[in-house]
Amino acid sequence: MSETYQKEINNIINTDIAIFGGGPAGVAAAVVASREGKKVLLVEKSGCLGGMGTSGLVPAFMPSGDGNKLLCEGFGTEVLERVLVGHENREALLNGFRKSIPFDPEKLKLIYDDLTNEASVNVKLFTKAIDVIVENKEISGVLISENEQLTMVHAKQYIDTTGDATLSYYAGAKYIIGDDQGETMPPTLCFILSGIDYSKYSNVITHMRDYVEKAIGDQIFITPDRHVPGPFRWGENVVGMNCGHMFDSDCLSSSGLTKAITWGRKIAREFTTFYQQYVPGFENAELCATASVVGVRETRRIVGEYVLTIEDYKKRNSFEDEIGRCNYSIDIHKGNGSKESFTQLVTEMRETYHIKDYESFGIPLRSLIPKGFTNLLVAGRCISTDRLVQGSVRIMPTCFITGQAAGLEAIRRINNL
Ligand SMILES: Cc1cc2nc3c(=O)[nH]c(=O)nc-3n(C[C@H](O)[C@H](O)[C@H](O)COP(=O)(O)OP(=O)(O)OC[C@H]3O[C@@H](n4cnc5c(N)ncnc54)[C@H](O)[C@@H]3O)c2cc1C
Repeated sequence: MSETYQKEINNIINTDIAIFGGGPAGVAAAVVASREGKKVLLVEKSGCLGGMGTSGLVPAFMPSGDGNKLLCEGFGTEVLERVLVGHENREALLNGFRKSIPFDPEKLKLIYDDLTNEASVNVKLFTKAIDVIVENKEISGVLISENEQLTMVHAKQYIDTTGDATLSYYAGAKYIIGDDQGETMPPTLCFILSGIDYSKYSNVITHMRDYVEKAIGDQIFITPDRHVPGPFRWGENVVGMNCGHMFDSDCLSSSGLTKAITWGRKIAREFTTFYQQYVPGFENAELCATASVVGVRETRRIVGEYVLTIEDYKKRNSFEDEIGRCNYSIDIHKGNGSKESFTQLVTEMRETYHIKDYESFGIPLRSLIPKGFTNLLVAGRCISTDRLVQGSVRIMPTCFITGQAAGLEAIRRINNL
């Protein structure tokens, strides 16, 4: 059964560049493009910029340096410079020291607000892209749902930074989901704990696997899960937690996300109990907040003018149209919490697909262009790669790289018109 619905749209926005999704890729694209003097609209469905790093409470930037220099030069460096104010390893990290950088999400929200304001980006929060008008692979308008009305957006160039490639999907672009069977990495609901005695915890970090195994034996977890990253320290006694997996979740449907987030809230409680009871330093831990969105690692990837593959990754390839390089080892979270799956993950990251210091692979501009489209670019975790390479380029510093490149390419295209 189907129904047709028609409505006259009375509010129209004309802009040079319209960007949908205000995560790391979207903010990077918007700021660099706006600085070039063009009118830039950035549409974000939640109440803050930053995507997974803020709404999702993902607690750290994965290493951005290759041991020698920062790979996310430009916009990424600017964000890290602001994040690292007062940090004891500031200079080393800004000079390419290969270490993850934990951050306070409230601070990051302000940094993104400041960067977009300073660049005069027209930011619309609480606004969602809901449909695309397209003909012969050329977009002529995007329908957005503002709090008060529906609005049609017309732009010379459109950039999809929704993470899920939602705009490209609405536009009819080709995409792939997950592996050959359509299986995707499980999501996580990140959360915040306070009341931690970190000095006590520092002495026992190497025992974490034993604690997890003991708790699994004691049936602390409804679904055993051995892959427990973190915690990531933000302040004197506050940590960001990126642990727990909602296995077999459907992260593209509202009902799937509803199921995942309600399960995630239970998992956050379980992990709080685990840390309180088994991990020294966490005896007085309190659960402060869970993220307002599901931490989605993987959904759609567009099929672009070039698909970056595991062969490119292994050869540490370079490209003529290279927009930047990445040196994060492939990190594919597994579909269950068994010992075998965890061992496989560790082997992949530390041996099979390990990237050493001073190594990196290139990302071509063509991986940001949905095949055949003339006024649509994609950046962030849904660019055109095979499944394994998505497990590397999805990290936030690399999203800064692809976002920045998409913003600059949109400018180049407009100037050449
Ligand atoms: C649990 C978890 C842990 C992670 N850990 C790390 C880590 O430690 N370090 C690291 O560097 N990376 C980590 N990552 C990866 C990284 O956070 C993401 O891959 C990255 O944020 C993707 O950036 P993005 O800009 O493509 O999308 P997102 O960050 O997902 O941002 C997309 C934005 O688009 C908005 N949006 C979506 N649809 C629409 C629409 N229709 N209209 C308007 N707005 C829309 C969303 O609200 C969101 O703000 C982790 C990811 C997860 C899920």
